[in-house]
Amino acid sequence: MDLCDLSVIRELLDAHGLRMQKSLGQNFLIDPDVPRRIAEAVGEADEVLEIGPGIGCLTAELCRAHPRVTAVELDAGLIPVLSETLAEFSNVRVIHGDILKTDLAALFEPGSRVAVCANLPYYITTPILMELIASPVPFVSLTVMVQAEVAARFTAPPGGRDYGAVTVALGAYGTVRKLFSVSAGHFYPAPKVDSAVVRITPRETPLLAEKEKPAFRSVVRAAFEKRRKTLANALAALPHGRSKEELGEILSSLGYPADVRGERLSPEDYAILTRLLFPQ
Ligand code: SAM
Repeated sequence: MDLCDLSVIRELLDAHGLRMQKSLGQNFLIDPDVPRRIAEAVGEADEVLEIGPGIGCLTAELCRAHPRVTAVELDAGLIPVLSETLAEFSNVRVIHGDILKTDLAALFEPGSRVAVCANLPYYITTPILMELIASPVPFVSLTVMVQAEVAARFTAPPGGRDYGAVTVALGAYGTVRKLFSVSAGHFYPAPKVDSAVVRITPRETPLLAEKEKPAFRSVVRAAFEKRRKTLANALAALPHGRSKEELGEILSSLGYPADVRGERLSPEDYAILTRLLFPQ
């Protein structure tokens, strides 16, 4: 069964009395080359966690390429469809649930090398990625399709308009690389914008200790909340007991002008700044 064939998709949905649900970000891939390329890009892993399998076109490719696959799908209507479309595979388990409410650590054996792979639902791309990078599961890689402009934000270098709190959060977690673009015409229904597949590889040595993460998040959030403000002004409201002048001096000691704005600092410098302001 070609799960990227539009007539197959329509027949399956009709047979199960389903419609595509826009509110769940359902844009299914209709070019079999794309799920194949995404599954290949995942690299070495013992298990793959897929988010939002839809009718299973990417899931099937993941099952062919990897030892075990766990797919979490929110749409209850798609669960019986997936039992049908993935019937030939014995290395898959499909879980009905919301990825944001799923206890990921409970799904995998400690020590298992788990990779994430997904054509993410666009309405919650960032919340899902923030949840994944905060998860106690030490993922070996995250290979995800996101909207092209979101990919540009994820991979933006410091200093530009695309560089923001999400860029810093992902940069603190690991390296983000754009692998390839996928134009809107490869989806049904076609979204308004093009997409891109990105690969996030966690740092071998984490940039932050677990106990430093809450302070890091509040520093980064404050830095980007009002982008027009200087960083010293933006950080003045946080409970670190430093004056704006002292904040300016700290930034100078890191090699920046005292009136630098938040988008100039690298994730590494945000980690240093967090330690200076909130020593543990
Ligand atoms: N993997 C399929 C493909 O590539 O054609 C479908 C991808 S579609 C962009 C996103 C999928 O995520 C949909 O099947 C949707 O129902 C599912 N989804 C949406 N929100 C979700 C959530 N919170 N947790 C798990 N799955 C979700």
